[in-house]
Amino acid sequence: MASTNNNPPLIHQAIALYGGTFDPIHYGHLRPVEALSGLIGLKEVIWLPNNIPPHRPQPEASSQQRLAMVRLALQPFSAFKVDTRELEKPTPSYTIETLKAFRQEIGEKQPLAFIIGQDSLLSIDTWHKWEELLDVCHLLVCARPGYQTTFTSPQMQTWLEQHQTKQQADIHCLPAGKIFLADTPLYNISATDIRARHKAGLDCHDLLPESVENYIKQHQLYR
Ligand code: ATP
Repeated sequence: MASTNNNPPLIHQAIALYGGTFDPIHYGHLRPVEALSGLIGLKEVIWLPNNIPPHRPQPEASSQQRLAMVRLALQPFSAFKVDTRELEKPTPSYTIETLKAFRQEIGEKQPLAFIIGQDSLLSIDTWHKWEELLDVCHLLVCARPGYQTTFTSPQMQTWLEQHQTKQQADIHCLPAGKIFLADTPLYNISATDIRARHKAGLDCHDLLPESVENYIKQHQLYR
């Protein structure tokens, strides 16, 4: 295929994965990813609830409850799918291993991205084999209020600048290797805060979908 500009020819529309504890899923997950998906033109976003996150305290809701809440929240979005492979594993799920498994399945040419929030970008050098991530995928970073937009470490800032692209087309033209900092809408929402609000009996209706809120109440979660 001939290219009419300086960009390499588009091979495939990118697919993206989005991992998280989702304890519970909330608008700080849903709205930035919805905006990002439209901005980049993602083919689909595969949501990956984790089972035993290596760097985190254990979730309060069970795996099945977190999965049920993710399924309820994603119902309105035809391009959002759920993958349960991490939930079904009895051992810690490392993102790099999950990404390598997807890469094996989709082949080496299909553009693949992993979506994270700005807070996760800033601590990415604590992730297992983080240096290998960009060999396997792009990183799409959603803005998150309260987190700085640059690294404190000069080495990490250099790593970011070496891989950063401002061209959305790169995400579709290349299989992996780029970091895109997306100007997604800011939501000052965290699952920690939602759990605390439920414990305190406070209203959460503008923080997460009604279907998820109803599930939390029915199952008496976060009491
Ligand atoms: P917790 O408060 O329990 O730590 P969380 O709200 O940060 O949870 P996670 O499930 O741990 O949610 O996050 C999964 C992903 O979602 C991470 O990449 C995180 O950076 C991103 N994320 C979570 N909340 C927001 C938000 N309000 N804005 C942008 N990204 C977010």
